[in-house]
Amino acid sequence: MRNWRRPWQVQRPFPLRVRLRLVVAAAMVLSMLFLFSVVTWLEFRNAHERNQERATSIATVLAQNLRGAVAFGDSVTASKILGSLNAIPGIRWAVLLDENKQLFSTYAAPASRAPTQPQMDAWLVRNNPASQAAFNKQTKSVYVTERVLVDEQPIGWLVLSLDNAAPSIAFFTRLALVLLVATIAALIASIAAVRILESVVQPILSLADTMREISKTHMYSLRLKAKRKDEIGDLHDGFNVLLEELETREHKLAAQQQRLMRLASRDEVTQLSNRHHFRQLLDEALEHADTDPFAILCLDLDRFKNVNDSLGHDVGDRVLRLVGERLRSIARVEDTMARTGGDEFSIILMEMDKEESVLPVARRILRSLQEPFEVDGLVLHIGASIGISLAPRDAQDAEQLLKNADLALYDVKAAGRNDLRFYHPLMGTRVDRRLVIERELRGALPRGELRLVYQPQVDTRANTVTGLEALLRWTHPRLGEVSPVEFIPVAEDCGLIAGIGAWVLEEACAHVQKLGSELTVAVNLSPVQVMTQDLPALVDGVLARTGLEARRLELEITESVLLNEGEATLKQLAALQRRGVSIVLDDFGTGYASMAYLLRFQFRKIKIDRSFVASLRDQGRKRAIVQAIIDMSHRMGMEVIAEGVETDSEMQILVGDGCVEAQGYLYSRPLPPDELARFLDQWRERGGGSGSVGRKAPLSIVK
Ligand code: C2E
Ligand code: CA
Ligand code: CA
Repeated sequence: MRNWRRPWQVQRPFPLRVRLRLVVAAAMVLSMLFLFSVVTWLEFRNAHERNQERATSIATVLAQNLRGAVAFGDSVTASKILGSLNAIPGIRWAVLLDENKQLFSTYAAPASRAPTQPQMDAWLVRNNPASQAAFNKQTKSVYVTERVLVDEQPIGWLVLSLDNAAPSIAFFTRLALVLLVATIAALIASIAAVRILESVVQPILSLADTMREISKTHMYSLRLKAKRKDEIGDLHDGFNVLLEELETREHKLAAQQQRLMRLASRDEVTQLSNRHHFRQLLDEALEHADTDPFAILCLDLDRFKNVNDSLGHDVGDRVLRLVGERLRSIARVEDTMARTGGDEFSIILMEMDKEESVLPVARRILRSLQEPFEVDGLVLHIGASIGISLAPRDAQDAEQLLKNADLALYDVKAAGRNDLRFYHPLMGTRVDRRLVIERELRGALPRGELRLVYQPQVDTRANTVTGLEALLRWTHPRLGEVSPVEFIPVAEDCGLIAGIGAWVLEEACAHVQKLGSELTVAVNLSPVQVMTQDLPALVDGVLARTGLEARRLELEITESVLLNEGEATLKQLAALQRRGVSIVLDDFGTGYASMAYLLRFQFRKIKIDRSFVASLRDQGRKRAIVQAIIDMSHRMGMEVIAEGVETDSEMQILVGDGCVEAQGYLYSRPLPPDELARFLDQWRERGGGSGSVGRKAPLSIVK
């Protein structure tokens, strides 16, 4: 980093204020000196001129007085007259020359000597003895020459030599006065100058002060106060504008920082705590777990992935927001609700030491999420699974506590979701199995571990086999036979169902087409497939490749597909049925809203769930429901089939109530292809039909 110093941190030998004062003082002293020199020079010049004038007038008066003495050659009188010069200060000497420029009389002041004839002769060579005054720089004296005239005719010359006059006392007095006035003026000027300087320097210094203050305190709300109309005022205004900009920028920055802080702890979509914040609060809660026990809830939304995949993230986000609102409405102030993943939520319920205290709250949460969500006119049934662990009972550290709650959650999911469980030490092994299944299932299809078995569907009146339901089987080298009830939900969870489902469809169609009869084939579709795959395209491809006619294919869906009856889902189903493929509603009667869906989509066939068929004889109420289902199906123009028919009496009751088609162990278990071929052969041999082959000789195989 560069070693950067702010200007005011630099130590200067002379601050601005001192420097400017020095400049003012220097200017004053220099102008005083100049003034003094000019005045003195002028005064000296004046004194010199006055001296010359005085000398000239003395010489003129003297020359007139000397006329007689020269005219009469009276050197004694001349000498006396010259001697009167004694009274006049500054006269050095005087020489009176006659007509022939010979010394006639001389005078010398006490300290001086009058020039001799040769000196005078030499002087006359250098100077014109006309009446004039001259200044000799060498001798620093003034010379005045005056003619002695009689009748306008010169009869002699008077030469006076005077000291160059020294400035008088009056001069010094004047000078002192001038200097005094000048000094006072200079002082006043200095004060005025300093005042003016201050008015410039002060605002600059206060600007620097403000800058220093802001740099130290970051108080960008500070403003310069001076209200001036001049350039300094402009400078202040400019600086204030700059501060204002800085302040707004600072505000924006602070707001942004706050948002970042919020983001760091909040989940943007639900406004609940985020994973990071949740972990912080969990760690804090754990520090006092011994005295303040609490519960951790790991919550997974059951059908959220379907909503998100089929209806888009917008709808998904809105569902999450509603989930957030519902959770918040249940939480107490001391509780923490957090979104810790896509559709995962984590909850800390404080002051919970045993399962009985957690249970009512957990149940409320579960119930509130079972309520349908309304988004964009769609009614979405989401539901949730909740795993719970208690601190400090189940674990003392965050990792273990969360892992235990997760294990309980896995347990709920494995048992069919939409429920809650408390952690139990035995859960670990069950979850391990789920993880193994997930890992192994990924390679099951390429390794050829998956195969299909077929369960015949029978027309009980005509005694013919009319169709086959294809059912998936997985034989793993180590795990053995794994039930589809166990592995299909795992395949749905980890995105394997699309590939597996497509394979089942292709395999079943190909196999039934190979059988060469008129048998139909029923293929089970997972809700995830219906909501995420382009089924019409998939089915078109399969039918084209296998050569199976569309009318011979039945697709079984459960009502959970319709729980999120997005327009797109219904369109897919309608498109399939338009091709001649039959859509069958499987497990009819198990969902609580089955009837409502019958109004939304015209199914070709409904399949009465085996839970209704089992023990039909013993339970009159069940029979009433089955009768109603059969009656309704006929009235709505739908075919009806009963599954799980195990006994002859069940069959008899169903037939009596008008349900002609049935499948179940009574006729056959689901069979692998070779056994199926044998079964169909035997069936024909006994006189029963299959597909269009049947319907000739009715024969009950039940005895
Ligand atoms: P599901 O569609 O209701 O299939 C009928 C289940 O009832 C089959 O169990 C069948 O073996 C069994 N079953 C048939 N007759 C009787 C009977 O008389 N009594 C009793 N108690 N059970 C009988 P499975 O094969 O174990 O399949 C279970 C479930 O797994 C199926 O229920 C279906 O939901 C799912 N499944 C099976 N194969 C596939 C498949 O290829 N794709 C999809 N998505 N799901 C499948
Ligand atoms: Ca089925
Ligand atoms: Ca079924």
